[in-house]
Amino acid sequence: MLQNINLKSHHNYVAFFLTLSCNLKCPYCINIHNGGSRVSQAHRNGLTAEEWIKAANRLVLRDDLPLTLQGGEPTLHKGFYKFVNEVKPDIKMDLLTNLMFDVDKFIKEAPVWRFNRVAPYAPIRVSYHPGQNDIDELIKKTLKLQDAGFNVGLFGILQPNGSLRDHILKVKERCLDIGIDFRTKEFLGEYKGKLYGTFRYKDSVNASELKKCECRTTELIVDPSGYVYKCHADLYKGRNSYAHILDENLNEDMIDEFRSCSFYGDCNPCDVKIKTNRFQEYGHTSVEIINVGK
Ligand code: SF4
Ligand code: SF4
Repeated sequence: MLQNINLKSHHNYVAFFLTLSCNLKCPYCINIHNGGSRVSQAHRNGLTAEEWIKAANRLVLRDDLPLTLQGGEPTLHKGFYKFVNEVKPDIKMDLLTNLMFDVDKFIKEAPVWRFNRVAPYAPIRVSYHPGQNDIDELIKKTLKLQDAGFNVGLFGILQPNGSLRDHILKVKERCLDIGIDFRTKEFLGEYKGKLYGTFRYKDSVNASELKKCECRTTELIVDPSGYVYKCHADLYKGRNSYAHILDENLNEDMIDEFRSCSFYGDCNPCDVKIKTNRFQEYGHTSVEIINVGK
């Protein structure tokens, strides 16, 4: 019998990475590059819709904490529609997508209520990747989903590169003019030898030297095979999972434990950057790191 997992008030994010497969090939994608989790995780079987449903049904989430579906492109999971229909009704979901899916099918098969809740940002968040997904197409699909009652927002990364940056800002203006929520995200990582982003821990990202430390998270993140990790870098690289989402004894206290890590310096920017939490308050970091190099 699976124990419930009662997420606590300081647990900020719960995400199921339904699949790391994607129908786009962004050159900067961390799923494909940076050590290729697809390769290291390919030998593991992904969870079926039934298993994901079992996993979701053991979660006890606050009203302000949805279950986020991400990937890869989460709608590519074969059981996506079964999952979003059959999980217990008190679980609200957010969807991170590139919107390459068939919107007519989505409107027909995905329940609007599942993706609707009061939040400071849209539950369905679409990433615009210039050169990969077409903005005219995204706008058309977004308007269609909005007409069907879904709450959709578009996101673009403000690249350091001048022309791409200008393009994103123009697209933002165009979307806002026609009533589409378009927000920009800061670029994180290295560009032309310079590291972009505001990180809490010095030399935690793209460092030349790896160090040992102890680390704990505020998130419950689960890879396509059901393994649970303390950070995105571990998840994408398939290393050091500390539990499986269908382990009978997995509980909320286990999320809070400090665990040793030998990869300080190879942290994923999104885990160590200073950001806003779910209340839109600035100053939050997903992980807490202590005893670096000791
Ligand atoms: S859409 Fe996302 S998951 Fe797909 S290739 Fe681009 S960055 Fe990677
Ligand atoms: S120190 Fe960095 S790589 Fe290690 S677990 Fe924490 S966030 Fe992940």
